[in-house]
Amino acid sequence: MLRAVLFDLDGTLLPLDTRSFLKKYTAALSKKISAVMEPDEFLDHLFYATEKMIEDLNSRMTNEEVFWMHMSQRVPDKIETLLPLVNEFYEKDFKLLGRDIPADTKASELVRKVKRKGFKIVLATNPVFPEKAVLERMRWAFLNPEDFDLITTYENMHFCKPHLEYYKEVLDKINEVPENCLMVGNDVEEDMVVKKMGMKTFLVEDFVISRKNGSISWDYQGTLEDLEKLLLSCQHLQGKDHR
Ligand SMILES: [Mg+2]
Repeated sequence: MLRAVLFDLDGTLLPLDTRSFLKKYTAALSKKISAVMEPDEFLDHLFYATEKMIEDLNSRMTNEEVFWMHMSQRVPDKIETLLPLVNEFYEKDFKLLGRDIPADTKASELVRKVKRKGFKIVLATNPVFPEKAVLERMRWAFLNPEDFDLITTYENMHFCKPHLEYYKEVLDKINEVPENCLMVGNDVEEDMVVKKMGMKTFLVEDFVISRKNGSISWDYQGTLEDLEKLLLSCQHLQGKDHR
């Protein structure tokens, strides 16, 4: 019985090429802090701390805490001047990165329809970003935060994709079991991996990321229109609109 749908954001609900977006984003952030540190040096620390955060499986520290712990170890004397600049970046400059993204309400309409069917909805974006940056990217896709039962950010999560611990934490938060959920994403290793737990998986075409020819498979593949047909024809559903 399908009761919840988990949506990835970048390259899934938001039409963008993740790799080129990350390049633009890290270039803009390192420029922002260039008065404090050489951009190349900052990027080196940023990638290091991000990698450590993604690897970390300590359930007592949020991703945000792990990230800043590693940043502080790398540049202990610069953290105090870095933090306000990074905050300002996410409040002001980050918005400008959305300028080239085509305005498209297709994904937000789909989410609303699926919500009306009574499914729980999760924005299961890899929680490596602050909430501000997630909410901003949601705005670019016209997504309404109120339509989601959970939005994963680096403040509220303790694990990252592709670790199954991330998906377990999501399930705990929405009180569901894997068998009742569908994960929708564009990344084979990060999103489709959850099939290993027994969750159903849907690979969204157009911006597929696949790093290696691994053993990961998925249940469905198609466009967001195909997903809509699949979900709206789904009869095995318990929810507030269940008939
Ligand atoms: Mg993605």
